[in-house]
Amino acid sequence: MSSTTSLPGAKPAPSATHLPSTMQPRPLLVRRLLEHGTTLHSGSEVITATDAGTRTATYAEVGRNAARLAHALAGLGVGPGDRVATFMWNNQEHLEAYLAVPAMGAVIHPLNIRLFPEQITYIADHAEDTVVIVDSSLLPVFAALLPEMRTVRHVIVNRQPAGAEAPPEAPGVSVHDYARLLEDRPGTYDWPDVDENQAAGMCYTSGTTGNPKGVVYSHRSLYLHSLGISLPDLMNISAADRLLVIVPQFHAQAWGLPYAAFLTGASLAMPDRYLAPAPLAAFIAASRPNKGAGVPTVWQGLAGHVQQHRDADISSLREAVVGGSSCPPSLMRTYEEEFGIRLLHAWGMTEISPLGALAREPEGTQGEDAWRYRLSQGRFPAPVEARLIGQDGAVLPWDGRSVGELEVRGPWITGSYHLDDDPEKFHDGWLRTGDVGTITADGFLTLTDRVKDVIKSGGEWISSVELENHLMAHPAVAEACVVGVPDDKWGERPLAAVVLRDGSTAAHGELRGFLAGKVAPWQLPERWASVAEVPKTSVGKFDKKALRKSYAAGELAVDVID
Ligand code: ADP
Repeated sequence: MSSTTSLPGAKPAPSATHLPSTMQPRPLLVRRLLEHGTTLHSGSEVITATDAGTRTATYAEVGRNAARLAHALAGLGVGPGDRVATFMWNNQEHLEAYLAVPAMGAVIHPLNIRLFPEQITYIADHAEDTVVIVDSSLLPVFAALLPEMRTVRHVIVNRQPAGAEAPPEAPGVSVHDYARLLEDRPGTYDWPDVDENQAAGMCYTSGTTGNPKGVVYSHRSLYLHSLGISLPDLMNISAADRLLVIVPQFHAQAWGLPYAAFLTGASLAMPDRYLAPAPLAAFIAASRPNKGAGVPTVWQGLAGHVQQHRDADISSLREAVVGGSSCPPSLMRTYEEEFGIRLLHAWGMTEISPLGALAREPEGTQGEDAWRYRLSQGRFPAPVEARLIGQDGAVLPWDGRSVGELEVRGPWITGSYHLDDDPEKFHDGWLRTGDVGTITADGFLTLTDRVKDVIKSGGEWISSVELENHLMAHPAVAEACVVGVPDDKWGERPLAAVVLRDGSTAAHGELRGFLAGKVAPWQLPERWASVAEVPKTSVGKFDKKALRKSYAAGELAVDVID
């Protein structure tokens, strides 16, 4: 018989399951990112595009302005948890707001300037924004919205360049000038320690279906996301980098880059409103970033410009993240082979802070094998747990073949929406992404569609993304968008809308022939339309709902080829 004897006076052994950690419970706060960036990386820079070229501030200066802004906001009555909205491009002052507002315990809420007016005012009301900081270049749009924003009490105008635009007016709203408001205020602030699970930022989905929904990020989720995306196998961000942030700060917090820059000390190149291909190329030449991030349509436009203007210099770029919608393989190859720039395909959602996966080929893979990985939506990082759910509700294997809806959970993934119960979007604690695809045994995700864009033809699914990717590899095709349209016999069939490159011609029959052999014959679209432009959403994605609507309204000239 065994017995345990203890020495007289010895403490009982602690139970392993209840062993308290000896670690300090310091909270993960945006305030720390601000303090770290502005002191240890005080010389890192934010370069902002201007009419005349660029303007530059060091992180030390940004930190002092953030403190001044916090004093000013506190003076206007902004307290813990209050929502401070921005209506701004990517620029230095927007960065200052990104840092100051959460660090003082309030909540930064970038408004998407490209939404329909009634969506913007719906969002500002729903979030109960009390203050809006607005770029003077956006005043003409903003002035019309302000009278409809019911909770806003203060507007702060960022005049860049200092100009004389008429200030916006609305009853009960005071209007201030950003520079004047910050003048003479202390360049330091006693940033509070708040609960790491407290709200730090908000972002609304762009509302392609129904009303936009608010996602509320915590200090902890922003901090962890900044650490995560900086990892070498994700965005690989360090103090040696200068990041070109094309993705707007109002689109899923610019994919986390501003905070990751302060965490790591990387410098930032902010294009402000100069996003058209020619001024963007000029800004790249002037600011010389080595990394960047943007949606495929922006990279597509820039590539076209560089191909036509051989003196355009984007040679400082070494690698850039492309995501938000599926990147055509032909575009990734163009960047790599013609410009020596690696486009890294990433998948994410506003609800996921936003990074969900990023595609770098595994060590040791080469050639087409490496491309297979690079063209996928990417591999999940540890904090993003993923599973696929089949049509019958069963969890599917990660075998690279089984197709299901992707569900995710993790510490930087939202568990609900702001004041909006939407049980449809959650499933036993997992977020239903509405994306459909496969996962390989080593965790690479390939998306074939969004649930609502999948084309259901006679009980079989056709991937609109696959057809688009093949079509966009045709030399005459600039853009191709494929949607499902009603069909008497099959329920739904694909309609291909194509935009031809300037000066190129290709008959629809030729394009159909080009697809034949690349996809199964029953997947070939019968309906074809040439369009001047594919309709785009507020963040530059193909707007498939708008295209389906144009078709239903008989606005497209459609060729039928059997
Ligand atoms: P919204 O849902 O309002 O368009 P988001 O930017 O949050 O705004 O969109 C997230 C969605 O974008 C994802 O659910 C997915 O459908 C799509 N998406 C993002 N990245 C990719 C990608 N690399 N490939 C294909 N689809 C993508």
